[in-house]
Amino acid sequence: MKYKSTRGDVTNRTFEEALYTGYAEDGGILLPETIPKIDVKVLKSWTNLSYVQLAKKIIPLYVSEDEIPSPMLNDLLDSAFSRFSAPEITPIKRLPGGLNVMELFHGPTWAFKDLALSCVGKFLQYFLSKRKKHLNILVGTSGDTGSAAIESVRGQPWIDIVVLLPRGRCSQIQELQMTTVLDNNVHVYRVDGTSDDLDIPIKLCFQDHAFTKRHNLSSINSINWARIMVQTVHYIYAYLQMCPSCDDVVQIVVPTGACGNVTSGIIARKMGVPLEFVCAVTQNDVVARTVKTGDYRIADHVIPTLAPAMDIQIPYNMERIWYVVSGGDCASIKKLMKEFEETGSVTVPEEISDAVRKVIVDTFVASDDVVRKTMKSTWDTYEYLLCPHTAVGVGYHYYQMQRNPEDKKIRVVIATASVIKFEEALQSASIPYTRDPRVAQLFESKQKYKDLNKGEDWLQMLRDKIEEIDKNRV
Ligand SMILES: *Cc1c(COP(=O)(O)O)cnc(C)c1O
Repeated sequence: MKYKSTRGDVTNRTFEEALYTGYAEDGGILLPETIPKIDVKVLKSWTNLSYVQLAKKIIPLYVSEDEIPSPMLNDLLDSAFSRFSAPEITPIKRLPGGLNVMELFHGPTWAFKDLALSCVGKFLQYFLSKRKKHLNILVGTSGDTGSAAIESVRGQPWIDIVVLLPRGRCSQIQELQMTTVLDNNVHVYRVDGTSDDLDIPIKLCFQDHAFTKRHNLSSINSINWARIMVQTVHYIYAYLQMCPSCDDVVQIVVPTGACGNVTSGIIARKMGVPLEFVCAVTQNDVVARTVKTGDYRIADHVIPTLAPAMDIQIPYNMERIWYVVSGGDCASIKKLMKEFEETGSVTVPEEISDAVRKVIVDTFVASDDVVRKTMKSTWDTYEYLLCPHTAVGVGYHYYQMQRNPEDKKIRVVIATASVIKFEEALQSASIPYTRDPRVAQLFESKQKYKDLNKGEDWLQMLRDKIEEIDKNRV
């Protein structure tokens, strides 16, 4: 399998190359040159497979045998999911009233980013040790990506990871998940600023191509292909669990931020799995507006909500969705992204917008008030705790049941994080709660981090750190 860019000027990349790549040289993002189709009979024959067994069928469709031989790939996948606390990896909770919740939060940092990043960590380790090459990962985070990335590479000999977090602006638990990792290859900075502030030195670092090359610097952000690829597995698993012997379409409600997760679902559909999607968002509603009206426009600012991992300015993965639903119309995408990059807004061509709406069949915008009410009523009725992100999706289910009680659609809401990470939201929803022992343990743990203060030269400090890492290795 080879990879190409959404804008068509970069082609013939290997999986290994895609693994290290964020944006391609033409400004686009990478996708497989052709999306493999799964025959219906073959799909149905996978009904009784476990999540990991299914991953072993799906991932090889995207990673050639000559890049990672299958016994090795199988071992990598086994070890990637060995730290998950639920044997089913992504169990589906079936509650009354047709409320099915697929829990993607049983990984080491209790959010769905673990599914993909655990594998990415193993893929990187495989290629780097084979090439005897060292990699520096640089990420800025305001939420779940930083801790999942750290957990996936901590202690690995061929990787160092530098993480910048906005001090006091992630939840305290999220911050502790990053600052309590003591491994020598993990370097955490608490920046006195917003996530936009900390993006500046990171962007400047990556703009210096000589520096990036010399230090083999990479970022494993949400446009990374390998992450999208791994996430197709849980959609196919959901379909097989919900619809083992029927031909119905299964509707998946995805709490959406930068559209990484839903993009994976749309690729699973393109592979031939009968799925449709609802994007549920916070008041930062760029995705809902774009799907409904075709008006793609960067938000002036981000409104903080109870579901911070979904509070985004612009969903960069949208470009991949346009590519997939338009059957690879690179020329239109290139034109529309050029206009977007010049002006900060663009109207998506009607044919592409129509095609998007055939796949993302509905959108839902939840206010904090809806989030609180949804968390509370789900707890009161079913004694089931939702994290605020998941509540955005479950809010859609309740709304839909009220609007159309006869609706017989098979629906699965994705639970993107565990509630144990979001004590503030529980308090805000007036749900009585005792702290989870795993969280309590975090508060007792030793920390390791450095502060970057206002007025200091953050770019220089970052560059010095990366140079120091590489000097100390040789
Ligand atoms: C990242 C994240 C999301 C948003 O996912 P996207 O792939 O960016 O759409 C939703 N919920 C949680 C808990 C997350 O960590």
